[in-house]
Amino acid sequence: MKIRSINPADNTVLKTYDYLTDAQLENALAKADSTFKNWRQTSFAERSQLMLKCADLLEQDSRHYAELMTLEMGKPIKQAIGEVNKCAAVCRYYAHHAEGFLQDEIMEAEASKCFVSYEPLGAVLAIMPWNFPYWQVFRFAAPALMAGNVGILKHASNVPQCALAIEEVFLRAGFPEGAFTTLLVPTNKIEQIIKDDRVKAVTLTGSEGAGSSVAQLAGREIKKTVLELGGSDPFIILADADLEKAAETAVNSRMINTGQSCIAAKRFMVEAPIADAFLQKMKTLMQAKKTGNPLDDDCDFGPMARHDLARELQKQVDVSVANGATIFLDGGHQNPDTAYFYPMILTNIKPGMPAYEDELFGPVALVFVVPDAQEAIRIANDHRYGLGATIFTQDVTKGEKLARQIESGNVFINAMMQSSPGIPFGGIKKSGYGRELSFVGIREFVNQKTIWVG
Ligand code: NAP
Repeated sequence: MKIRSINPADNTVLKTYDYLTDAQLENALAKADSTFKNWRQTSFAERSQLMLKCADLLEQDSRHYAELMTLEMGKPIKQAIGEVNKCAAVCRYYAHHAEGFLQDEIMEAEASKCFVSYEPLGAVLAIMPWNFPYWQVFRFAAPALMAGNVGILKHASNVPQCALAIEEVFLRAGFPEGAFTTLLVPTNKIEQIIKDDRVKAVTLTGSEGAGSSVAQLAGREIKKTVLELGGSDPFIILADADLEKAAETAVNSRMINTGQSCIAAKRFMVEAPIADAFLQKMKTLMQAKKTGNPLDDDCDFGPMARHDLARELQKQVDVSVANGATIFLDGGHQNPDTAYFYPMILTNIKPGMPAYEDELFGPVALVFVVPDAQEAIRIANDHRYGLGATIFTQDVTKGEKLARQIESGNVFINAMMQSSPGIPFGGIKKSGYGRELSFVGIREFVNQKTIWVG
């Protein structure tokens, strides 16, 4: 078996790679472990310098790194360049802030001195998805490396070129070999890697099933995990909302990365008086999105990342429609020989349908017409996921009150839900646990050691 990098836009095989042999895997883990022993002794200033260099390289070669991503998983090139630049931003953010976030913290105690010292753990295994193949990795790696840990990446099998490019950029920036290592291994090697004493913790971004399986393995070994899993984020539009802005934000959120984003708004609850107008605007805006070759600058949505993802999404739509959902905008997987999936809007969605219960990971908007805000909140919370949420209303005080009632890790009011370096990011319920980014994220993978002086 080999790892294949396939262009989903035309199905060509771009490259193939052999999986690591057992001996190569052993060497990589040994190298990561030995590098950690030196890396943990380096100063924040030394780490910052390398991290800033990494940011410079990403920006300087953003087109190159973006093209790899576009070719391998279909992200429209403009969005791909944006993603690479965002990775540079997170490198800079932690280069500047890590030392402050990890300074000793004095505790109130009956001691002559008592403080918490934040110390690195060692090698952290990152199991990552293909949808933001650079961003998901950098938002883990920048804080982890700045904290003095080393990173080991098991990336999704369809993005091996991106996985290797990330390792390369760290090496080019001057990080020592073993500070960040990409392992081309199949999923069935993960158990062995988690069991290895040299691996101290695990972070996984991906599906609920993968998260549950990895958490069980890590739990058995008493190793900490952070899980960033699926979402079916609600987007509530109250009758007093700025309708233009709400519809535009709704469509941009649903369509980002061709609908393949954990925090894309997926379920839209709109108050009845403005429902028709909202639906019409949403339809017009979705129809205006351009598709084509994702390498073209004017491409708004490309193919889905793999053919099977488009097929699976169509199945979820078909079962929902067979059970009574209504198609308001028709699109879908029109040519089964390609991975292209055209935007759709469904209404009349009821419990029991895949569209109600599950995550639709592609450009399908699910619209619920509701009598009032409380019903919107009830439907928003009637889901096993709790990642992000959005509310549009001119009454910001009311918006804040409603935000507190939503079961999720983030709520955005009158703005598009996003992750960015300075704000904590993560979910509750089956969307996972733990937080990334900001000061919270860098403290996930450190020993928060209390030191008491009597
Ligand atoms: P996935 O199939 O779970 O894959 C994610 C990673 O986990 C890949 O590296 C995959 O390797 C690995 N994996 C899969 N099954 C595994 C298992 N049983 N044990 C250990 N590792 C396993 O997810 P995906 O399809 O790539 O990504 C889409 C999902 O990720 C969506 O649900 C999305 O919402 C979620 N997501 C969440 C966030 C967040 O921040 N919360 C961000 C992005 C995406 P292989 O590729 O080799 O199978």
